[in-house]
Amino acid sequence: MTQQNRFTGKVAIVTGGASGIGAAFARRVHGEGAAVLIADLDVAGGEALAAELGDGAAFRQVDVSDAVAVEAMVKACVAQFGGLDILYNNAGIGCFGLTPDLPLEQWHRVVAVNLDAVFYGCRAAIPQMRKRGGGAIINTASASGMAADFGFTAYNATKAAVINYTRSLAIDHAADGIRANAVCPGPVETPILMNGVDAIPGLKAEWEGVVPAKRFARPEEIAAVAAFLASDDASYVTGVSVPVDGGLTAHTGQPDLRARMAAAASAAEA
Ligand code: NAD
Repeated sequence: MTQQNRFTGKVAIVTGGASGIGAAFARRVHGEGAAVLIADLDVAGGEALAAELGDGAAFRQVDVSDAVAVEAMVKACVAQFGGLDILYNNAGIGCFGLTPDLPLEQWHRVVAVNLDAVFYGCRAAIPQMRKRGGGAIINTASASGMAADFGFTAYNATKAAVINYTRSLAIDHAADGIRANAVCPGPVETPILMNGVDAIPGLKAEWEGVVPAKRFARPEEIAAVAAFLASDDASYVTGVSVPVDGGLTAHTGQPDLRARMAAAASAAEA
């Protein structure tokens, strides 16, 4: 990684910052000069990361599905670090279940954490960003928001909504100097995915097989794109949702004819 100092003097909040992609983003922007507020439900992980980063880093326990707590998070950040320039709405939860079987509470929880929380964060942050003359919002959507994955009903719906809400933010707040963009990760080696994948023998290899890059991402590879979108390097980029997925969504899903044709040719030769 080329070390840069793109965030000197900037203040960032990252939700879901105690683990995975959010923690990698916190390390990245703090390493490049930002003060960072790590917001998460996970106290142990969040406090450990804030201690690791040291000066210019703080942790606050926040349930992002609670609008009052999110408002208080933004206020606390401004009180501690003097303002807010970057909001990374990244906290999210998974969900599996077909529509007729999905308990209503589960649907509502996923919508609350994956979608409502993004609105709450932006609602609280935009007035603060206006005071600074602009800012950058980044939302973690998903490849599962660009197309649908089997059984991910509520998750697919929320991540697609985040993509279009990001466009809405971008056009409504361009005149405020606020940019809004999303990242759409494919499979990333973080607990939200690996807790399920590791429980099923052979699933990881099968899943890697359908990704053109033939591997899962490291959280740092998603965080690097989010950091680009947060930085002035992306000063004319707003309203986009960037796939960071090893080519997953570039593929229609149809079979690899090269492999099939080669197999047929060698069978004909034999
Ligand atoms: P992760 O499990 O490492 O981190 C998620 C973090 O969010 C955890 O620290 C968790 O405590 C926190 N969190 C969950 N609910 C919260 C709440 N209500 N309030 C505050 N914090 C909460 O997983 P990750 O992969 O880093 O996930 C980050 C984002 O990336 C999520 O939005 C997820 O949907 C998205 N994503 C992940 C993948 C993947 O394969 N890992 C793929 C596409 C999108």
